[in-house]
Amino acid sequence: MKPAPFAYERPTDLDQALLLLDRHGPEAKPLAGGQSLLPMLALRMVRPAVLVDLNRLEGMARLEVGDGRVVVGPLVRHQAAVESAALRQEMPALAEAAAWIGHREIRNRGTILGSLAHADPAAELPAVAVAFGAELVLAKAGSQRVVPAEEFFLGFFTTALAPGELLVSCRWPLGALGRAGTFREFSLRDGDFALAAVAAGLVVGADGAVSEVGVALAGMGTGPVRSRKAEAELIGRKPTEGTLLEFAAAVLAEAEPADDLRATADYRSRLARELIVEALTASLQRTAEGGHERA
Ligand SMILES: Cc1cc2nc3c(=O)[nH]c(=O)nc-3n(C[C@H](O)[C@H](O)[C@H](O)COP(=O)(O)OP(=O)(O)OC[C@H]3O[C@@H](n4cnc5c(N)ncnc54)[C@H](O)[C@@H]3O)c2cc1C
Repeated sequence: MKPAPFAYERPTDLDQALLLLDRHGPEAKPLAGGQSLLPMLALRMVRPAVLVDLNRLEGMARLEVGDGRVVVGPLVRHQAAVESAALRQEMPALAEAAAWIGHREIRNRGTILGSLAHADPAAELPAVAVAFGAELVLAKAGSQRVVPAEEFFLGFFTTALAPGELLVSCRWPLGALGRAGTFREFSLRDGDFALAAVAAGLVVGADGAVSEVGVALAGMGTGPVRSRKAEAELIGRKPTEGTLLEFAAAVLAEAEPADDLRATADYRSRLARELIVEALTASLQRTAEGGHERA
């Protein structure tokens, strides 16, 4: 099938892009890497009257790591995150998660912000945004607002983005949790979406008890799943295998995995339990070594 007809705009600066999105409201869609949008256009799952291509915008491909945070602009491709030595050092889970997205060709075009805006429940990056407390900056012609990742993802392919709004950056605080973070995934074949995936960070204090934890699951509900209750219960406890299994069970109590052709909900839950314990154990080791693994 071919896409329904649409007008095509290719602005070169952000203000122009925001004006176009404002003018056309719900009739317009931003086009970033096109790795999700083009198949949806071709299948006529979406029929925007206007596509606003972001690819010619000046200065939007910045990936900044430093000054206490990681900042990602709208044209940062997944592969740039995979290859960033600074990111691997400071927030390895983001580089590791990006490496799981599709194939190299898809990672060369697809953008980090496009993946967040698309909000596929099985996508890797929304889980990384939620686990490590990212903030998303949403711009509209003449205004901006900042939304915490936990409030951005509203459900199945649904976000807090309003018509006419553009996601202009995602920023993560650089702290011990992010530095210790890891990403684990299980998919049936290389390049497939996750059956289950986990972004996790765990930090222990001098007494060996958990002082910080952040865990979010992908593929286990209608959006990223994070249990603040389970995390609060883990703080102050020693991270033994038993405690981590208890923690995993408490997180999974808040998940809503689906049965589908690829896996049953029960299989996904068992998979996620193993991935949570594995990711937290690896994160612990990463803290102990003060370093990080390669994806
Ligand atoms: C074969 C294949 C395998 C894939 N495997 C995976 C996978 O394993 N994991 C995964 O997560 N994804 C996967 N994808 C999906 C895709 O790679 C990501 O969703 C994609 O990278 C999204 O980024 P994009 O820049 O391509 O977005 P686009 O396709 O350009 O846009 C996606 C949506 O986001 C909106 N959008 C884009 N940028 C912005 C912005 N800055 N502000 C507001 N809205 C915006 C668009 O309007 C559109 O609705 C796969 C795709 C293919 C074709």
